[in-house]
Amino acid sequence: MKITFPHLGNVYIAGKAFLEELDQEVVLPPINSRKTLEIGIKNSPDQICLPFKLFTGNYIEGIENGADTIFTVGSCGPCRFGLYPLMHKQILDDLGYDIDFIVLDAIKEDIVDFKNSLGRFLGTTSAIKVSKSIKLSLELIKNTDDLSQLSNDIRAYAIDKKQVNNIMEEFYENVQSSYGANQLLGLINRTSGELRAVKLDKNIRPLKIGIIGEIYTIIEPFVNLEIERKLGELNVLVDKSLTPTKWFNHHVLSYPLGSKYENKKFKLAKPYMKDSVGGHGRETVGSAIYYNNMGYDGVIQILPLNCMPEIVAKSVLKSVSLDLNFPIMTLVVDEMTGEAGFMTRIEAFVDLISKRKEGRIIEIG
Ligand code: SF4
Repeated sequence: MKITFPHLGNVYIAGKAFLEELDQEVVLPPINSRKTLEIGIKNSPDQICLPFKLFTGNYIEGIENGADTIFTVGSCGPCRFGLYPLMHKQILDDLGYDIDFIVLDAIKEDIVDFKNSLGRFLGTTSAIKVSKSIKLSLELIKNTDDLSQLSNDIRAYAIDKKQVNNIMEEFYENVQSSYGANQLLGLINRTSGELRAVKLDKNIRPLKIGIIGEIYTIIEPFVNLEIERKLGELNVLVDKSLTPTKWFNHHVLSYPLGSKYENKKFKLAKPYMKDSVGGHGRETVGSAIYYNNMGYDGVIQILPLNCMPEIVAKSVLKSVSLDLNFPIMTLVVDEMTGEAGFMTRIEAFVDLISKRKEGRIIEIG
């Protein structure tokens, strides 16, 4: 099997290591780019949400690089994500690609199906080897997320922001040529050391902004136009409400009760939203209240155009912002989003919350 999978932020690093530790051949699709998006737009339904189009682009680029098997995750609930694997299979069949699909559905959907799907590439691999691969990949997911957070923290205080950007760019280039979990863990360690050596300006008093919204747009830098980097360059400390580590803690490691962190967000959202609206809509509302309670200066909600759960959350966030007198900005991204307009809105928001902090603007609304 030559396995490829779609990009979901940094998850490809652990995914690559996991499969390599199981002696599987991995064909990484190129990092998301304008070309990926154009392939996706050409071969996807017009009105479908943006992540779907990029997945289509990833699959086609992966197949053209030699992959014969696609590994992806499924979902349930009132959102289009649960339909992705079925629709993608149909699209690729229609395009004439002879591709095998392995779909890992949520454990709560069907644990037997979950085990069967895993079994398809585990084959006769020993249980010890499998558990070692899982352990190493979970460590990699966490360490990659920690590294990304460290780069955000250092960037907000760095005298030379470009130095932080260069270190992270080199890290992502080196990921491509690394093989297996140990090489990747070593690379993360070295990069973390380089980041810690960056000179900081102790006089910077950064603003704190939480990024909330649909998970794909939060963690995928191509889609959110590298919002973490842009905010860091404006001396802002950034925290993401959803990361692969937080997702795994909630959906896998703390199954079936769920993680304390996510359950707390559901509780906070309850006065505004009692039930799930699909995707991460309820978490978005809870996260906004959570960041307000944690003393953050504001939050930015990011969502793909046509994302049903986040459109519902957006309408509720208006009341949250007024009730708590807390700045919340929404950014909608799609294939037409332009860098200049996006940057102008971010700068204006940072300017607003910075004036607020100085006491020059008090009320929201
Ligand atoms: S959460 Fe939104 S963007 Fe993501 S699959 Fe569902 S509808 Fe599409």
